[in-house]
Amino acid sequence: MGGDGSENSLLNQMLTNTQSFVEKAAQLILDSNYTCAFTGAGISAESGIPPFRGEGGLWSKYNPEVLEMNFFFAHPLASWTVIKEIFYNFFTGVSPNHAHLALADWEHKGYLQSLITQNIDQLHFKAGNKEVYSFHGNSSQLICISCHQSVEATPNLLSVLPPLCNICGCVLKPDFIFFGEGIPEEAYRQSVKAAQKSQLFFIIGTSGEVSPANQIPVIAKESGAVIIEINKDKSLYTNRISDFFIQGKAGDILPEINQFILQTKAKTL
Ligand SMILES: [Zn+2]
Repeated sequence: MGGDGSENSLLNQMLTNTQSFVEKAAQLILDSNYTCAFTGAGISAESGIPPFRGEGGLWSKYNPEVLEMNFFFAHPLASWTVIKEIFYNFFTGVSPNHAHLALADWEHKGYLQSLITQNIDQLHFKAGNKEVYSFHGNSSQLICISCHQSVEATPNLLSVLPPLCNICGCVLKPDFIFFGEGIPEEAYRQSVKAAQKSQLFFIIGTSGEVSPANQIPVIAKESGAVIIEINKDKSLYTNRISDFFIQGKAGDILPEINQFILQTKAKTL
C-alpha cells in the first residue's frame, strides 16, 4: 500500500481495499476448483473460547504442565481435573459462529473442498463441515495410553476422574496433542496434500506462530495457491505469503464474501 502520509486517505484506501478484496475473494472462490481453509484460535475466540497464549489466555489462568506428557503420567487426576474444566465443561456449551457456519455452507455448496484446523473444539464439525483435518487432534475422542483403544468422551465417562480404559484399565488421554507430541499422521498427510492441491487457500484467525502447523499455508503458497488472509491483526503471513489481507473478524467478513458470491452468481445467470 502506497499512502501519501495523510491518515484519512490511508483509512479510505484501507476501507476500499477491504471491500474490493472481499469482492475479489468471492470471484476467486467461484473460479477455483480446489479451495481449502486453514483456521486457528481466532475463529473460535469469536465463539467465546479463550486462546491459550497471550493476555487473558488459558495459560495465564492454568498451568500448562497439565498438558505435558510427563506430568500427565505422574499426576493423571490433577491433569484431568483441569483438562475437564477447560476442554469438556466449557467447550460443550459453545456454539459455532457466523464464520464457522459460512465455511460449512461453502463446503455444502461445493465452494470449499477441505478445511484444516488447529482447533480442538469441534466447532467446524458442529457447524456441519465434513472434510475437516484436525491438525492437533480433537477433544471428542479419548485414547488409551496403553492399548490405544479410542472411545467417545461422554459426560458419563468423565463423571469419575481420571477416566479409565474398559479393556486394560489404564488412563485415557484426550485425543488432542499434548506439548511435544507429534502431529497425528493422517491429519498431517491430508493437510499437506490439501495445501498442495489448493488453487485458493484461506488463512483464517491464525497468527502463524505455532509450528509445524504454520508451514501448511507456506506449502499452499509454494504450490501456486492464491492466499487470502482474514485476521483481526497482521500476522506472520501478512506481507509474506498472503496475496490479500482482509482485516477484521471472520464472523463479519465470511458472510460478506457470501453476499458477493450470491451477487456475482445472480449477474452471471
Ligand atoms: Zn486400554
